[in-house]
Amino acid sequence: MNLADTEIVLGILQNYGYSVTKEPEHADVVLLNTCSIRENAEQRIYGRLGNIKTLKNDNPNLVIGILGCMAERLRKDLIDKKKMVDLVVGPDEYRRLPELIDTAIGGEKGIGVRLSRTETYDDIIPYREDGLMAWISVMRGCDKFCTFCVVPFTRGRERSRSLSSVVKEVEQLSQRGFKEVSLLGQNVNSYFDGSNDFADLLAACAEVDRSMRIRFTTSHPQDLSDKLLYTIAAHPNICNYIHLPVQSGSNRILKLMNRTYTIEYYLNLIDKARKIIPGVSFSTDIIAGFPTETYEDHLMTLEVMREVKYDGVYMFKYSPREKTKAYDMGDDVPDEIKTKRLQEIIELQQQISYQINQDLIGKEEVILIEGFSRKSDNFLSGRTDTNKVVIIPLSDLKAGDYAKVKINRATHATLFGEFIEKVTYDKKSALTT
Ligand code: SAM
Ligand code: SF4
Repeated sequence: MNLADTEIVLGILQNYGYSVTKEPEHADVVLLNTCSIRENAEQRIYGRLGNIKTLKNDNPNLVIGILGCMAERLRKDLIDKKKMVDLVVGPDEYRRLPELIDTAIGGEKGIGVRLSRTETYDDIIPYREDGLMAWISVMRGCDKFCTFCVVPFTRGRERSRSLSSVVKEVEQLSQRGFKEVSLLGQNVNSYFDGSNDFADLLAACAEVDRSMRIRFTTSHPQDLSDKLLYTIAAHPNICNYIHLPVQSGSNRILKLMNRTYTIEYYLNLIDKARKIIPGVSFSTDIIAGFPTETYEDHLMTLEVMREVKYDGVYMFKYSPREKTKAYDMGDDVPDEIKTKRLQEIIELQQQISYQINQDLIGKEEVILIEGFSRKSDNFLSGRTDTNKVVIIPLSDLKAGDYAKVKINRATHATLFGEFIEKVTYDKKSALTT
């Protein structure tokens, strides 16, 4: 989401005459787009700011700014107390950036941290370099108020872009040769533009170009509708992959988290999705060490992982965030216990991923070639629609091609295969040739 926001910011600044430099030493303005979701994300930014500030030795007029959630949360600390930056601009005030940069150039602090109920940057064309994959932010904010989460405070209330503006952006990306689009929102399933819901949006995006893969994230279990599941099943180019954060396997903890579903509801939903979309895979987010979490609660989380068999898990140690309800519950699980539980979650997931990948040996998959493998130019790397990385020997395939491959070997993180044949999709009809 921050990558997508950065592209919006660059789009706004480009319209005002700025251009991008990859070298911080050549920059007149350095902006750090920040995340507040966990304490360590914020600590990293303080470290980065320390380094960037040294650029002022050679260029005293350099404007340094903080964008995003930290700007919203820590304006006073950054500007008044630590005097680290010239500019703080929250996620809903990017349109004012050119004016606020001018203020900072004039020697005053540029501050824009108001949250909006309407801003969606609908009309801004994000700055994107040519490539295969693009992010499109389709809604902003979140109304869920999970008790651990700072997002509703730093990014404000939910609001959605119009379907037509998103579809137009997908059309432009298709014309530029992009092959994959990820639709983004903190809870994409509550997308509603006044007449269209998320399933409508997904279908409309899928219809733009059948040779383009459509992904989306994140789905809240409570709002994943049957209509959405049937829409995914009906469109071959909507990837069979759902990121469905569970957070915990214990109903007691889910209640304390205000996640608004029980584990039974969640597991039923997974079953239903598997019936409607054969072969669908799931990933999830899990928090270890939420306030009052006992070893029994933790075992329930491991049990859910064994039952669902996720393709991937994003795993986090609970990090208390000011303003949230969980902050007032204390942080009573000691750090070494959180670390141990997290380690158990990681190890279990590695075993599960290994087993899922072993079961794919001998099977055929269609992958989108992304380029050379990270480790060697003698191999190509691509992804299945379930988001698994597959490495195949070099051939005359190029980035952006689809290929049918046979899987021969697997680790917990990567599949290794051989090329069978090239696959081409008819842009309009989804037929393969
Ligand atoms: N909107 C998405 C959802 O509901 O699942 C996720 C948004 S959040 C940016 C991504 C993940 O960060 C969450 O699913 C949660 O697992 C994790 N997270 C959020 N707040 C956290 C906290 N205070 N401590 C640890 N992990 C946290
Ligand atoms: Fe945070 Fe919950 Fe909203 Fe996700 S759904 S962004 S975890 S409040």
